[in-house]
Amino acid sequence: MNDPIPVTCPSCFEEFEVMPPAPHETPCEWDYDCEVCCHPMMISFESDDGEVYASARGLSE
Ligand SMILES: [Zn+2]
Repeated sequence: MNDPIPVTCPSCFEEFEVMPPAPHETPCEWDYDCEVCCHPMMISFESDDGEVYASARGLSE
C-alpha cells in the first residue's frame, strides 16, 4: 500500500528509498543499514495526514 520514501544517509549523504511503516504504526524508529555505504543509522518515521515521513540520524556521536 505504501510507496517507498526517500531517506538521506547521515554518513554518506546519499539518498535511498525504504518501505515505510503504515501511518498508524508511527511514530517509530528503525535500526537500518545504509544501502549505499552500509553504515548503521536510526530512521525516525512520523506521519501527517496519512503521509509517512522519514528522517535518519547516525548512531555514533
Ligand atoms: Zn550511507
